[in-house]
Amino acid sequence: MSRRPHIGVYPGTFDPITLGHVDIIRRGAHLVDRLVIGVTTNPSKEPMFTVAERLAMVRREVAELAANIDVVEFDSLLMDFAEAQGASLILRGLRAVADFEYEFQMAGMNQQLNDDIETVFLMADVALQPIASRLVKEIARYGGDISKFVPAAVVTDVRAKLQG
Ligand code: ADP
Repeated sequence: MSRRPHIGVYPGTFDPITLGHVDIIRRGAHLVDRLVIGVTTNPSKEPMFTVAERLAMVRREVAELAANIDVVEFDSLLMDFAEAQGASLILRGLRAVADFEYEFQMAGMNQQLNDDIETVFLMADVALQPIASRLVKEIARYGGDISKFVPAAVVTDVRAKLQG
């Protein structure tokens, strides 16, 4: 008997994509038939990279990871995006206690918008849990070494952006 494929959406700003994101994507891709990474335009966050640059970065970093991953831009309500993708779950990564309150609230509101789509949290890998895009940018701006936090090609992207 055939069943409906399980589709998951992993939304984020990915400004830039970090090793923490890559880990969640790798683990998340095992849980679903198809994982759609939703890259938000999110102008309110004033990202360092344009959405086109972030899409290209994420595509490049996941190319070797698994065959069931797509990377898509979105600038709508997350639930509308997830519905349009035919998703049955939204994937999020959970780092410190600090993430919990915001994520708990967002999952609760999203559940009220559509309770057919479940938010699923993966605990951050112990070694990768301190990594945050915001801190990566801050460290890079002060000339610090970010190579332990982001893929090698992203180190180059961030350097080029700061020099440009
Ligand atoms: P957003 O703007 O939606 O918070 P981010 O790109 O910062 O977008 O994060 C996307 C998702 O990845 C969130 O669920 C976030 O908690 C998770 N995440 C970010 N960094 C890490 C990390 N180091 N380990 C695990 N999950 C992470």
